[in-house]
Amino acid sequence: MSDAHLHIAIDGPAAGGKSTVGRRLARRLALRYFDTGAMYRALAYVARRDGIAPADAASLCEEVRRIRVDLESDAPLGFRIFANGAELDEETLHSEAVTSIVSEIAAHAGVREKMVAAQRAIADKHDIVMAGRDIGTVVLPNAQVKVFLTASVAARVERRRVQLEHAGVRARQLAREIEERDRLDRDRAVAPLVPASDAYIIDSSAMSADQVVDAIADIVERTAQRR
Ligand code: C5P
Repeated sequence: MSDAHLHIAIDGPAAGGKSTVGRRLARRLALRYFDTGAMYRALAYVARRDGIAPADAASLCEEVRRIRVDLESDAPLGFRIFANGAELDEETLHSEAVTSIVSEIAAHAGVREKMVAAQRAIADKHDIVMAGRDIGTVVLPNAQVKVFLTASVAARVERRRVQLEHAGVRARQLAREIEERDRLDRDRAVAPLVPASDAYIIDSSAMSADQVVDAIADIVERTAQRR
């Protein structure tokens, strides 16, 4: 990992606003943006498509290399992600079929090892805002700025509902889905969802996305002045 690049880690529970905030922050600071959740979702998509069981860690590890990422900031997601060369859109990545198995897939140590290596290779080349669950703790432990973004379940359900509607994904039992995914992500043995000890914790329940972006941009500026 190089210190030559500015790395901003944004972690937190499901639907906490990491993508909206991360994308806007990256645009404001002219950095690249990547949401690592999309890689786990892409793998879940491949598993569904190819009939691989979410418990089959060995086959899933083999499939990680089919996923490719392109940090094109003008793309709708703020980057592009491909499985076997075919681009995956938000509707596919956030479908119920993918969301319902992604946390089980992300719990395998072997899968995470490959994902983390690929994510570090991306960060090694760029100044970047990287969002996920384990960016500040595992992927980029030397990130100059780490934020743990959280919000009440009610606020997160409402935001996810709006996002899914916008992406054309059918409405579903969001509260149960979000709480179950948080439980799986927090309780897993490898790289569980916890704030890094040096992360700034932001509860965005009563904040707009732009207010959160302002708050993180302030932290970035203060950090830069101290260095
Ligand atoms: O952030 P998003 O909801 O798209 O992430 C989907 C799932 O991918 C999470 O619930 C989690 O199981 C997994 N994930 C992870 N580590 C990351 C990013 C996502 O385990 N860095």
